[in-house]
Amino acid sequence: MPEITYSPAALYIHIPFCSKKCDYCDFYSIPVNAATDGQLLDSFIEILRKDIDRQFKPVDTAKINSVYIGGGTPSLLGPRRMKELLDFLMPALSVGQNSARKIDEFTVEVNPESLDKDFLRVCAEGGVTRISCGIQTFNAPSRRLAGRAGGSARLGKALALLGEIYGGAFSADIISGLPFQDEAALRRDMETLLSYKPAHVSLYDLTLEENTPLYQNIISSRVTLPPLETAERLWIFGRDFLTANGYPQYEVSNFAQEGKRSVHNIAYWRMSGWLGAGPSASGTLITDGGASGKTFGLRRTVNADVRPYVSGAEPEVFSETLDRNALIKESFLMGFRYIKGPDAALFKKRFGCGIEDLIPETLRVWRNAGKMQSGTLNGALNIALNTDGLLILNRFLTDCFIELEKLA
Ligand code: SF4
Repeated sequence: MPEITYSPAALYIHIPFCSKKCDYCDFYSIPVNAATDGQLLDSFIEILRKDIDRQFKPVDTAKINSVYIGGGTPSLLGPRRMKELLDFLMPALSVGQNSARKIDEFTVEVNPESLDKDFLRVCAEGGVTRISCGIQTFNAPSRRLAGRAGGSARLGKALALLGEIYGGAFSADIISGLPFQDEAALRRDMETLLSYKPAHVSLYDLTLEENTPLYQNIISSRVTLPPLETAERLWIFGRDFLTANGYPQYEVSNFAQEGKRSVHNIAYWRMSGWLGAGPSASGTLITDGGASGKTFGLRRTVNADVRPYVSGAEPEVFSETLDRNALIKESFLMGFRYIKGPDAALFKKRFGCGIEDLIPETLRVWRNAGKMQSGTLNGALNIALNTDGLLILNRFLTDCFIELEKLA
């Protein structure tokens, strides 16, 4: 049987280190001190390179069009290790000195407390086109109760550096619904952030995860969050503020200036296939069977534990096969987050039918309710929620899945 060559559009690399854990965070990362944990960080880069190398074998790397180094806190790697990683990655992707190939987007996540000029210079010289900076809030009491490292002076310094070295080519995250946050505080956060002219802003509604210190603090009444309705109003206030200031919403939590949407995230939302390297990272490779019904996906998730990862053996990986029905559901789940909806042309090629063939009743009801919009992309009609519809995405998805079940 001929070996399959996969064509993922994106590569995600997870750097599982932070200077300290934020109280609300349930992403996989461990706290490290860059000064005293240098050996661990060096070993990590060495093993990460092997992990990526192994994953590139059955893959047409020339199709990878975006890279995202996230975490965790990639800026904790410091300039030397980041240079080592970029010097390995670019030739492996056939990008750089002896090649005319360029990739559309290469993002690195940073946090202000570990960001410096040398790190950003290495990124800029090594081909990183975009930086994503975790701000969350400038409001000191909110930062303290959320357990965020770094004060507002440090945030301003980091944003000024980003402006100096990256111009506007950066994104910043803001969280709404934090302790001590009201509309005036969120407005101040937005105004301060936009004064540094980012091209892209992610506005997240605080999600309270069990097994986090914030959750414990809330159930033991040490910390109070704004009531649910207030939190919802705050997020909508933030959405409207960004839209009115030149950052229209293009996904559930994402806003961008014209032409500055995240290429990498769109690859996820449109299920274009991606690789994931590093502890806890997950990748999904898909073969398109079209009308034959033989479409299937392979999901590979690296064990979320850095200690065995750096031990040098092959990383422990959890593999899962996704059948056609699971992939259709996931295409809806991811695709309807995006303001242009799932990729209708790819959907047809992949599943041998149109979206409207599978959920006609749901589309009829939601169109009549004024929650949908239509446009074209690559000559195909795209079906998507409008910004009112995105607010109640989960209700829409429930309707989609009930209708899909009836078809089964
Ligand atoms: S910096 Fe980011 S990844 Fe690290 S603990 Fe805080 S929220 Fe989590």
